[in-house]
Amino acid sequence: MRIYKAPQTVDIPQDLNLTELLHTSNDPPLPPSHLIAKDSLTNRSITIGELRQRAGRIANGLNSTFKPHDQSRWAVILPNSVEYLEVFHTVLWVGGVACPINHAIKAEEIGHAFSVTRPDFVVVYGPVLPKVLEAVEVARRDLTAEGVAWGAPKIVTVIESVDGYKHFPDDFLPREKLAIPHFNDTKSRLATIHLSSGTTGKPKGVKLTHFNFVSNVYQLRAHDPAQFHRGSRVVAFTPFAHIGNTTIPLFLGPFMGMMHHAMPAYDLETFGQLVDSNKATIFQGVPSVVLSFANTDIAERFDFSKAEAINIGGPPFKRDMLDRLLDKAPWRLNQVYGMTEGAGYVAYQRSTDKQLEGVVGPLVPNIEVALRINDGKDDAPESGPGELWVRGPNITRGYAFNTEANQSAFPQEGWYNTGDVCTVSKDGVIAVVGRTKELIKYKGFQVSPAELESYLNSHPHVVEAGVGPVFDESQLTELPTAYVILKDHLVHEKDRRTALKEIQATVDDRVSGYKKLRGGVWEVNLLPKNPTGKILRKQLQDHKSGLSSLD
Ligand code: AMP
Repeated sequence: MRIYKAPQTVDIPQDLNLTELLHTSNDPPLPPSHLIAKDSLTNRSITIGELRQRAGRIANGLNSTFKPHDQSRWAVILPNSVEYLEVFHTVLWVGGVACPINHAIKAEEIGHAFSVTRPDFVVVYGPVLPKVLEAVEVARRDLTAEGVAWGAPKIVTVIESVDGYKHFPDDFLPREKLAIPHFNDTKSRLATIHLSSGTTGKPKGVKLTHFNFVSNVYQLRAHDPAQFHRGSRVVAFTPFAHIGNTTIPLFLGPFMGMMHHAMPAYDLETFGQLVDSNKATIFQGVPSVVLSFANTDIAERFDFSKAEAINIGGPPFKRDMLDRLLDKAPWRLNQVYGMTEGAGYVAYQRSTDKQLEGVVGPLVPNIEVALRINDGKDDAPESGPGELWVRGPNITRGYAFNTEANQSAFPQEGWYNTGDVCTVSKDGVIAVVGRTKELIKYKGFQVSPAELESYLNSHPHVVEAGVGPVFDESQLTELPTAYVILKDHLVHEKDRRTALKEIQATVDDRVSGYKKLRGGVWEVNLLPKNPTGKILRKQLQDHKSGLSSLD
């Protein structure tokens, strides 16, 4: 197999866990009064000294109240906030596994997340408690159907308390800190189970170890010291529950002494104010958000002058977009490429790299990739394109409770097949040129076609459905789009159109905002399939009858 290696290597501590990392800083040591996070939800701020103190004390309280077993699983369901950092580090401190779940998703979706992570505890933002109670029933029903026994999780509220439930942190605050744990098994010891649909099917639980995250922290630090440093100030609005905004705010940030302003939800006006008031040096985003900087006067009304870099994952910007942005401020647009299965980032355009059009950037240290074709049997020609396989210290070794997915996603020991089609230059710069996997990305959020198809297929008007992405140039994002074969009894065009609208409304009502069928529901005459019965999503559009829910 032809292997392409990252241009740089870095030494990664083999037995440092994430609680030890929280107590380590990039030289020189951070003074305890160093501010690392603020938020717009509770208007709290926290210093590195306070986080170390509080997480250790609350960990002690949690231990004496619940006596959790080692590696018990803790669903963490709350908006971006200072509390998020406290909850996460407390869970890790007690030897727990954090299972981050987006608080804004629907009860049924949280239920599915519970089925794949099977939490022993749930730490939930008070107002979201009703959804969690419903979700517990959904998960219990589904797991029972699978023959899996799952005891009811203990529920703890946070930020807003609810009568009858223990509250974080007030109910767990003894005076003494718990000792900082040391483990000899950081390479197998889980830190989180994050949700991702990977290359196929519904969302699964990605097992990420302490070593995976510590590695990504060391990889990023070595990769781009000009961007990640003590003076970095970040406005962070993508959910901390998503991997694209986990490693940097929760682990790299406190280690380097960066300051994160956590936004619980995105809106352009507040974002502009926060960039201005925090003198932000970095924003992360997705192309559709960055587009609004070019298309509105936000950068003129607020002071964006300290902004050095905008880090974006997703389709590369075209030259005219770069030029329009650069007209407004001397920003860099750093393309980043990562994935849940990589505990963060695999390639990252550095602040010192030439601003290139259409590529992501160099592989982060210690990453190896291969480009494969013919269903993974052969190497692609030199430089590709081919399906990207990736190996490195930050790459997961598998999904939780899912042997089948583990067999298909890891073609050889240590190698994860990303399902992305890439090219790699001789100096390790990659470009993403396509995708073989089923995933749809709506503004950075994962949408699993299999999940939407399961809702569509249960609709009374539908014989069978397929779901795929349609790229919307005006918003620079993919839109989930459905293609359905309608039942025969709908003879008249008017009835079929009404049915398509009804199907869209039913599905949109069941799912979170980012999964809605914004590309519409289209009638098709057949669903193209390969010989094994798999839907050929790229060909779905060719079979449209012309009728859609958008008419
Ligand atoms: P997630 O696990 O949600 O971070 O999704 C990971 C997937 O998002 C990757 O496997 C890619 O398919 C896609 N992705 C991430 N970054 C980029 C990028 N810079 N260009 C194209 N696709 C990307």
